[in-house]
Amino acid sequence: MFSHLEPYAGDPILSLNEAFQADPRPHKVNLSIGIYFDDAGRIPVLDCVRDAEAQLLVANAPKPYLPMEGSAAMRAEVQKLLFGADSAALREGRIATLQTVGSSGGLKVGADFLKRWLPGSAVWVSDPSWDNHRAMFEGAGVAVHSYPYYDPATGGLRFDAMCDALRGLPAKSVVLLHACCHNPTGVDLSRDQWQALVPILRERELLPYLDIAYQGYGDGITEDAHAIRLFADAGMSFFVANSFSKSMSVYGERAGALSVVCASAAEADLVLGQMKATVRRNYSSPAIHAAGIVSRVLGDPALRQAWEADVAAMRERILAMRQRLHAVLGQRLPGRDFGYFLTQRGMFSYTGLSPAQVDRLRDEFGVYLVRSGRMCVAGLNSGNVERTAEAMAAVLA
Ligand code: PMP
Repeated sequence: MFSHLEPYAGDPILSLNEAFQADPRPHKVNLSIGIYFDDAGRIPVLDCVRDAEAQLLVANAPKPYLPMEGSAAMRAEVQKLLFGADSAALREGRIATLQTVGSSGGLKVGADFLKRWLPGSAVWVSDPSWDNHRAMFEGAGVAVHSYPYYDPATGGLRFDAMCDALRGLPAKSVVLLHACCHNPTGVDLSRDQWQALVPILRERELLPYLDIAYQGYGDGITEDAHAIRLFADAGMSFFVANSFSKSMSVYGERAGALSVVCASAAEADLVLGQMKATVRRNYSSPAIHAAGIVSRVLGDPALRQAWEADVAAMRERILAMRQRLHAVLGQRLPGRDFGYFLTQRGMFSYTGLSPAQVDRLRDEFGVYLVRSGRMCVAGLNSGNVERTAEAMAAVLA
């Protein structure tokens, strides 16, 4: 029955993570997977999350199925978090939001929806982008193309080329944009560049699909929502998939959402209805425990305050690691410009290391990076950052 199947090559990042786990060297360093580790190298359980879970345990409430669109409390909190409590689109009922199975679940539900309701539209993703973007949209039967983004020569953005490409797209094309902390490069648009995108997207009648998986890791929780609020204030229709995996350190809880900003409340109702139908055909309804955590952390003032402090601490620790890496590399290899480590934002940096240099780092020094040269800066800590920087200097020399 199944002998004709092609073997699955595995996801390159997850496979690398498994290879790391199997590596017996005590000083190995995992900079491959997109997970925030604390300074002791552990995935933190945030106090606010633990307290929310304690409240859930005490309440001992039944665990019914959630509705297809998820928990009403969580959806309302997500809307305020992304769009701001005073958002006109929110007030006018123009946003359809669903709690989803992680933001991956949201991205896929959105992709299925687009395939059904905008069947002529292709998706355009940044070059490069998170590999799963392409896989998910192609898996939904949507054609995927790319627009220029990262500039290897500068470690920055090819903004003019990006805009030129967007100006040439057919109307109703879907443009996938990372709202902050671009994965894999760490290269984000400036506020002026976001502003410059608005007329292009509007005049060309393009449909932005924002992915925000690292809210708070860039410049701050509200600051990182800038593009979302800018597009909403500009009266545009667009998608936003957001994740709490990283910002609340709840990866396995599968906490995420999908929001669609529409032209009217009536349109938002239509969208929500068809999104529910899509969910029903996929996984029926999302996770109740995730909803309990997120709605409490965002909705309870004390937990919210603790969460904001935790996110700030995670962001600042990553920044400190960026600065240390930059300092050691600058000392070891004077004359080379490593400034991109400081300007890139969020968990990831494109190091500019070649696949051969990445292999050397792993084989000789036990430092694991994705072969594209993407580094998860959040895997660095005060115990391994010097060693890692020395190893990088050795393979770069
Ligand atoms: N988008 C991007 C850019 C990501 O990096 C990730 C996680 N690696 C996701 C979406 C999905 O996150 P999750 O499904 O855990 O919410």
